[in-house]
Amino acid sequence: MLKTILKVVGVLVLLFGLLIGGTIFYIFGLNQKPRSGPALGHGIEQIADSIATTYYFEVKGGKVVLIDAGLDTTGAPILAALKAHGKTADDVEAIFITHAHTDHTGAVNVFKKAKVYAMKDEVGVAAGTQPYGSPLANIFAKTNPMPFKVTNPLSDQETIDVDGLKVTAYAVPGHTPGSGVYFADGVLFVGDAFSIGKNHKIRGPVYLFSTNAQEGIDSLAKLLKELEPRYKEIEFITSSHSGTLPGAEGLAALQEFVKEHASK
Ligand SMILES: [Zn+2]
Repeated sequence: MLKTILKVVGVLVLLFGLLIGGTIFYIFGLNQKPRSGPALGHGIEQIADSIATTYYFEVKGGKVVLIDAGLDTTGAPILAALKAHGKTADDVEAIFITHAHTDHTGAVNVFKKAKVYAMKDEVGVAAGTQPYGSPLANIFAKTNPMPFKVTNPLSDQETIDVDGLKVTAYAVPGHTPGSGVYFADGVLFVGDAFSIGKNHKIRGPVYLFSTNAQEGIDSLAKLLKELEPRYKEIEFITSSHSGTLPGAEGLAALQEFVKEHASK
């Protein structure tokens, strides 16, 4: 009996190992590095937080806007960047969360004065009241282990003006129920809605980490349609874990990917 149990446990451990190893290889082995590619310009700073990227904008009045909040729950990499600009946590006016995975929201609770923006369908996921629903989350953490409050829920294609910085939000459900992509200062910030792989080919949301990967791909088809009137404004496309492509190259790669993989 004990032998059988040990055997089953052994097989399970091996399977988990393969699953996690395969996932890490899939994400990190094939893709570009978080900050590879050209600088984003417009004074936008990219803060490397181990595997993820936080984006830093200075707006009118010396306040700061962030896109995502890294993996480090102390916010050390972000606080260091603020300090280098002579600023503190209280200067962060707004944080735009692409989605409520913990490698994008680690320090969100460090910035007590900041408004927290996310798509309205991500509010429950952020609060930990709605499950992620991805294959890996179903095994390890059904709901957000580090809940936070979205103070300002966003609608699809809504534009917010934060002290002169105009940020347009696009709903791209799939990686999580309320994943969002942001367009600001000529840069499209895609979070984990897609990544940039080998030979600058686009890869869709990672199946194991995503609520519904195919829905995520179909959301990219919708995103392209919605962005069409603004194609010329897109200087760069940047992904949280896999770097940046120039706008035209990124759009062409995304169009090719969508054509091949979208359901309609
Ligand atoms: Zn994610």
